[in-house]
Amino acid sequence: MKKEYAVIGLGRFGGSICKELSKEGLEVLAIDLDEDKVNEYKEIASHAVIADSTDETVLRELGIRNIDHVIVAIGDNIQASLLTTVILEELGIKKITVKAQNDYHEKILSKIGADHVIHPERDMGKRIAHNIMSNNILDYIELSDDHSVVEVKAGNKMSGRSLVDLDIRAQYGCNVVAIKRDKDVIVSPMATEMIQEGDILIVIGADKDISRFEKNLVVEDD
Ligand code: ATP
Repeated sequence: MKKEYAVIGLGRFGGSICKELSKEGLEVLAIDLDEDKVNEYKEIASHAVIADSTDETVLRELGIRNIDHVIVAIGDNIQASLLTTVILEELGIKKITVKAQNDYHEKILSKIGADHVIHPERDMGKRIAHNIMSNNILDYIELSDDHSVVEVKAGNKMSGRSLVDLDIRAQYGCNVVAIKRDKDVIVSPMATEMIQEGDILIVIGADKDISRFEKNLVVEDD
């Protein structure tokens, strides 16, 4: 059976989740207090309803218990976000993802039963900071406090050399998991793969190892 989703709060964040899920042909129930927001999503989501998610009876009537994954994207009203999360947890929703407004909000959400807490502004801030620090870091995804995945531009020092020749795993302790070359993506490249000018490497590893790799092998483009 097709998985069903509900998005509560149709601001920029919730709205964009709702649009993407709907674009993929998934069943999405869009909920917001605001009539204009709901009207905006009438044509996009499978169902769009005006409702206050802090009202348990309303959520029950909407059949929220049949939804597999609920995304709570209420930003400013932290109290409403917390109360909604508690109600969803009590109703036995299998998967609850909640947008946190700040670190305190995140901490409480994790304690009251949110399965996944996201902090988009903070996470995007980190990604942009890494991109700003080095011209060659195109993207950065934090895996844990000390591990990440980065997208780096292969500089002059690498082009024309194979992965085995560069010896990245042994020398720097990180792994090249994919290479983007023009429109192609080479997943799990062979050790004999030759790096070409313009390649983008997707590298996974400990932050300290990635940093060493970047300083030694990735040449800054000014
Ligand atoms: P974003 O940064 O994602 O645009 P925002 O700051 O615009 O977020 P908020 O206004 O805090 O987001 O909330 C997002 C949406 O959640 C709003 O459209 C608001 O009407 C809706 N919302 C707030 N409280 C509730 C509630 N109790 N039930 C349903 N929707 C709610």
